[in-house]
Amino acid sequence: MSAPKVSFEFFPPQTLEASFRLWDTVQTLAPLDPRFVSVTYGAGGTTRDLTREAVATLHKSSGLNVAAHLTCVNATRDETLAIADGFAEAGVSEIVALRGDPPKGSGAFQQHPGGFANSVELIEALAAKGKFTIRVGAYPDKHPEAANAQADIDWLKAKLDAGADEALTQFFFEAETFLRFRDACAKAGIDKKIVPGILPIENWKGASRFARNCGTVIPQWLEDAFETAIRDNRQDLLATAVCTELCSDLIDEGVDSLHFYTMNRPELTRDVCHALGVTPKVSLQNVA
Ligand code: FAD
Repeated sequence: MSAPKVSFEFFPPQTLEASFRLWDTVQTLAPLDPRFVSVTYGAGGTTRDLTREAVATLHKSSGLNVAAHLTCVNATRDETLAIADGFAEAGVSEIVALRGDPPKGSGAFQQHPGGFANSVELIEALAAKGKFTIRVGAYPDKHPEAANAQADIDWLKAKLDAGADEALTQFFFEAETFLRFRDACAKAGIDKKIVPGILPIENWKGASRFARNCGTVIPQWLEDAFETAIRDNRQDLLATAVCTELCSDLIDEGVDSLHFYTMNRPELTRDVCHALGVTPKVSLQNVA
């Protein structure tokens, strides 16, 4: 098994303490030489300024290749594209382009007056600028709003045909889920790279709630295993084993890149990466 290439997702910190935690996370994971690290954009555009700051700071001080998430929610087209241009001016030309979700509790996505109607329109507009590498979301367990699995794949193809370069998937818990999805994408004529999104399970309660919200299927065996591990206080051990096995099953099936949802907690991601043969390569620039 050859070691995969990895990338890491972070969220922008909202407090000083959270900033320290993000920096610790970056310092721990940077030596694993990620293809890129990405910074999320809060639901409803709520962390717009924090995302901008975190992206610019990471780009300047970490020496890593940084990608900024961007959504269409709650902004006009001009405002959204101005944010993208701002990323480019800060030296960040990689974007994870998403339709996004409105803030929690405010119902389904609504097009902002003067805003993009959907992710395809956003991707077309970003691609027309000719200066961005564009990644998009994909849903092996099907997005909750998709009419059916095939409609979801057709929509992914439309996003890639609109000018996106690569897809990053929502997390899933069984390798089969991704492999079936990859086959269906190939059958639909998708030939761009689809990178599995991996969620190391730091906390089962939080991970299972997150899964239910985004339509990720929770297998019964996993639920049972965590119930036992929590009772025996062995959650960490199980989480490392489950995540490493998922990743190595994917690698055995030809997957060469993995995208980790770190939740700004580096240890489990680092341990899984080490187990997969991804070991330290570079040191951070400009560390005080
Ligand atoms: P789309 O793929 O455009 O739409 C979602 C699904 O709805 C599609 O798969 C399709 O089945 C259906 N659909 C939508 N419009 C149409 C249409 N016109 N015709 C047919 N079908 C349609 N959210 C954030 O708020 N901030 C983030 O930073 C963030 N980062 C993410 C990163 C990744 C890798 C992933 C996978 C998701 C992320 N999300 C983020 C969550 C994402 O915003 C939600 O899943 C949102 O509901 C869908 O966004 P999308 O761009 O994937 O949507």
